[in-house]
Amino acid sequence: MNIPSLTISQIKADLAAKKYSASELAQSALDFAATENPKTNAYLHFSAERALAAARAVDDKLARGEDPGLLGGVPIAVKDVIVTKGVRTTCASKLLENYIPPYDATAVVRLEQQGAIILGKANCDEFAMGSSNENSAFGPVRNPVALDRVPGGSSGGSAAVVAQGTAVVSLGSDTGGSIRQPASFCGIVGVTPTYGRVSRYGLVAFASSLDHIGPFSRNVQDSATVLQAMAGHDECDATSAPAPVPDYSAALTGQVKGLRIGLPKEYFQGLESESGALIEQAIEQLKKLGCEIVDLSLPTTEHAIACYYIICTAEASSNLARYDGVRYTSRSPNSNTLPDMYRNTRGEGFGRECKRRIMLGTYVLSHGFYDAYYVKAQKVRALIAQDFARAFADVDAIVAPVSPFPAFKLGEKMADPLQMYLSDIYTITGDLAGIPCLSVPCGNTQEGLPVGLQILTKHFDESTMFRLAHAYEQSRIG
Ligand code: GLN
Repeated sequence: MNIPSLTISQIKADLAAKKYSASELAQSALDFAATENPKTNAYLHFSAERALAAARAVDDKLARGEDPGLLGGVPIAVKDVIVTKGVRTTCASKLLENYIPPYDATAVVRLEQQGAIILGKANCDEFAMGSSNENSAFGPVRNPVALDRVPGGSSGGSAAVVAQGTAVVSLGSDTGGSIRQPASFCGIVGVTPTYGRVSRYGLVAFASSLDHIGPFSRNVQDSATVLQAMAGHDECDATSAPAPVPDYSAALTGQVKGLRIGLPKEYFQGLESESGALIEQAIEQLKKLGCEIVDLSLPTTEHAIACYYIICTAEASSNLARYDGVRYTSRSPNSNTLPDMYRNTRGEGFGRECKRRIMLGTYVLSHGFYDAYYVKAQKVRALIAQDFARAFADVDAIVAPVSPFPAFKLGEKMADPLQMYLSDIYTITGDLAGIPCLSVPCGNTQEGLPVGLQILTKHFDESTMFRLAHAYEQSRIG
């Protein structure tokens, strides 16, 4: 079997035709991942025992003539900020190097109920803070498309395993672009669902009001299937929505004639020319498919970076307070007093970016600055959401770039955190508004670097987002 070319529907067909068993597939996938992983450092650790047990369960079901589920036998990787019972979950932080969670995230439970085989945990930026995966305490991830470049972040490992072929699909998390940006850098599909669509129970919190779990895959259909398997209300997450989950596969009709697509003019400023040309081509392609293209404006976009980096750091400073050597994490030895113990544990454990965010967040929440920064940022966030609401009164979807540039070289932007923050300009607005958005490949630069096209729709309208992305993807292939 050729694991890098497998899709969910191919696996389903192969298992039904008894070309191989789920156990054989799991073992081959684990072996292949173990040999390929040193090139990219995309997996932090493997969960072979759990994977093989799950595969045996799928084989038993098949032998009994039962349906093995939407993801029966499909090898997946899970970002290491999503907890897995009995399997180390480090958040790519030294602080949690040996943390073994006592429970599974709801998304993980649901995927396994549908027959998914979890091969291991994917590398990422520490506590999901970053845009290049260079903030991992366990070393950066290399982009499988160009090994001297970053895979994007923070879900860099989750994107890399799917692009490299060491998993068929994977789970990532997106707070300000961490699924779409690495998907675009690695030339695959990445989906951020509506806030509330997928339970956050068991997703280690970075900025709770912005955190989403979502899938990566090599085609649109597979992401739709993974989302189908894990979406829906969960009583363990008070922000998960009790909205019904439609049949996403049924939306993949190939028919997009007459859809009104908005182009926000603010998303075409500061875009590198080669990426811009590929986005233009994609827009021409959508016109050929019968879409109507409409120019529009999302005027609050210019304040989005400031707004995001106030809200996310504020929430992070609060969420990360628990890693103190008392409630979580091992203690730093050699501390004589309680304040020393706190100081040493956190000082030695957190990496530079986490410390920067904790300090920024503590500052914007502090007495005297709270109204000027945090409260104001919340108001700006409401304006950003209003911009989208106004736009979606007129159009069915919005199309935009994902990133101002393709994958950059390792080390290139590390010295300048502000430059790194500015690169999130096209992705953070979707998270601030809580709307569904995805990245679908739209071509490569002269140097062969992938570029992603972003598609955004209104709350809970993942169906239109998938329909448009699928029709576009098929028209490029066909
Ligand atoms: N790059 C953004 C940040 O560093 C987004 C991270 C994310 O979505 N987890 O905060």
